[in-house]
Amino acid sequence: MDNPDRTPIGVDLGEYNLYTACPATMPDWTGAYRISGDEICAHLDDLRERVAVLLASDSDRDTVVAYVRQRRAELLETLDGAARALCEYASAYDRPVLVTEDNHYEPDLWAWLTDPDAHRGTAWLLAMAHLRLRAVAAEYAVEVATVPETHSSQECHRCGVIGDRPQDKTLRCPNPDCRVDRVHADYNAAKVLAQRYHPGQRCTYRSPPPVTPGERPALVADGGPPQPQPDDA
Ligand SMILES: [Zn+2]
Repeated sequence: MDNPDRTPIGVDLGEYNLYTACPATMPDWTGAYRISGDEICAHLDDLRERVAVLLASDSDRDTVVAYVRQRRAELLETLDGAARALCEYASAYDRPVLVTEDNHYEPDLWAWLTDPDAHRGTAWLLAMAHLRLRAVAAEYAVEVATVPETHSSQECHRCGVIGDRPQDKTLRCPNPDCRVDRVHADYNAAKVLAQRYHPGQRCTYRSPPPVTPGERPALVADGGPPQPQPDDA
């Protein structure tokens, strides 16, 4: 997948920002692109509330299923519209490749609707947003690649050191030699993913600096499988 003539564009998926896209070569964030997740999250919350009311009522199962099916189709239209906007953004670049995390799991809308412990993003939204992005990108003949997700939302795009999140949407780089202080976490993650398209680049699998030599984490070779870290959860 290492094609030097391509333009890798990292795509971070989330609830606050449904899609955040940034090319690896972007010197700053002026050309980055984001699509808010507010609207679709509000729809999903509303759907869960309405289904709870229906399930507690005398409605028969077929009525509930038909209602969910119709609302699901509307949700997919919203996702496809966002994915099309993203593909049009990407198409302005020369031979773009959308680079996403390699997490694959099955979207389960019923889990979100009926399991009180289900998380909106992990149960359905992000998995489906990923699937729809791949499908829509195929219509646009835009290539999609996946790269390991390990620490992609935590490491600084510039120096590779693991940062901290003093606020939810901000990543702070603790490296005194790095000129990045605080960056928007979603833009940073998108750029890290884009950089990982070319194996061997600085950002591949950089672990946080050990506190003491005895706590040095296991080294991982470029391109090798990521080792589980205690803070992966
Ligand atoms: Zn840094």
